[in-house]
Amino acid sequence: MEQGAQRALLLYSCGPSDSSDLQNFGNPSSIHWAGRKAKSAVDRARDSLAALLGVDDPDSLCFTGSATEAINTALKGFFFFHRSANRVVRIITSAVEHEATLETARFLAELGAMVEILAVNEQGELSLSDLEKRLQAASKQEAVLVSLMAANNETGVVFPWEEAARLAKSYNAFFHLDGVQAPGKVPGFRLTEHVHLASFSAHKIGGAKGVGALFIRKGVNLQSLLHGGAQERKRRAGTVNVPGIAAFGEAAEAVGKRDLGALDRMRAELEAKVKELISGTRVQGAGAKRMVNTCNFLFDGVRGESLLMALDLEGFAVSAGSACNSGSILPSHVLLAMGLDKAAAQSAIRVSLGPSNTAQELELFTAALAKAVARIRAQASRS
Ligand code: PLP
Repeated sequence: MEQGAQRALLLYSCGPSDSSDLQNFGNPSSIHWAGRKAKSAVDRARDSLAALLGVDDPDSLCFTGSATEAINTALKGFFFFHRSANRVVRIITSAVEHEATLETARFLAELGAMVEILAVNEQGELSLSDLEKRLQAASKQEAVLVSLMAANNETGVVFPWEEAARLAKSYNAFFHLDGVQAPGKVPGFRLTEHVHLASFSAHKIGGAKGVGALFIRKGVNLQSLLHGGAQERKRRAGTVNVPGIAAFGEAAEAVGKRDLGALDRMRAELEAKVKELISGTRVQGAGAKRMVNTCNFLFDGVRGESLLMALDLEGFAVSAGSACNSGSILPSHVLLAMGLDKAAAQSAIRVSLGPSNTAQELELFTAALAKAVARIRAQASRS
């Protein structure tokens, strides 16, 4: 976690047993001084996040418990609002979205939403003309929501989301962006005027786990997912996570100052070194525009899970498939959608670099990786 985020988390986490920090124990909905202090921490974080995302009106940001909750609120809130006005709801999304989007879309399909899934090519890229055809085919009476990610969490491939949002607007459709992976990893990332809804996660930018945010453009109507108090301008009932949100704000300030060029160079060096040391290396999405810190490697004949375990023993934390699927042997739905067969999709590992990684760590990692791949291949050839 970023240092500032850690400090904020500690500062606003103090309970009543810690008398010296009693002043931080207020509920932001309370009118007394302690409540006002907590509220000002939440407001400050909202301002910092708005500045990072290029959002003019900080009040259009609603804090949630995760990006999954934000995505659920966007899709279900849209569906329930428009269905209550007797409109047919169409959701257009892609095959490589995070499960938070795909599972929510599946759930809404059971309730009557028309769900359309856009395919990607072997580089993980989206076709805007395919999106346009789907938008053209929708009837004018329908409420249409296009939901796409800014960048893929498994391959790092960046979608042309600005153009997709502009296209959606030109057909009077709404646009939700899963922006979770973009801040601090896609240079120059800012929300554009055509985006109606956008979801974010604190821990993806160096904040604490268990906090998210949903951007809701003024005038966009959603039915709330949670009913209860009037918190977050009646858009999300329940007392907000003050320490987590304060840390989110600190992380937003820090990530805005990150040197993305350095991360990009380190990623390029890592890929070059791995290709040089290990024969039969493939990098998924290498021909596409990608975010700066993610490499998805595939080593012929080596299962990702075996590699993950071998690297774990050496102290390196990498993922096989999507992090949310680690521990299961399911092949990645993202790689399957890019045309890989089941065995190949089970061979991939994802390596994510952070701003604190050093050239020396990269050396140690590539050496450990080459050793592990050689050992697994030798074992496989003996059996
Ligand atoms: N969307 C993307 C692209 C993600 O990478 C993730 C998490 O990895 C999510 C959504 C869900 O975020 P959260 O863990 O905050 O629910």
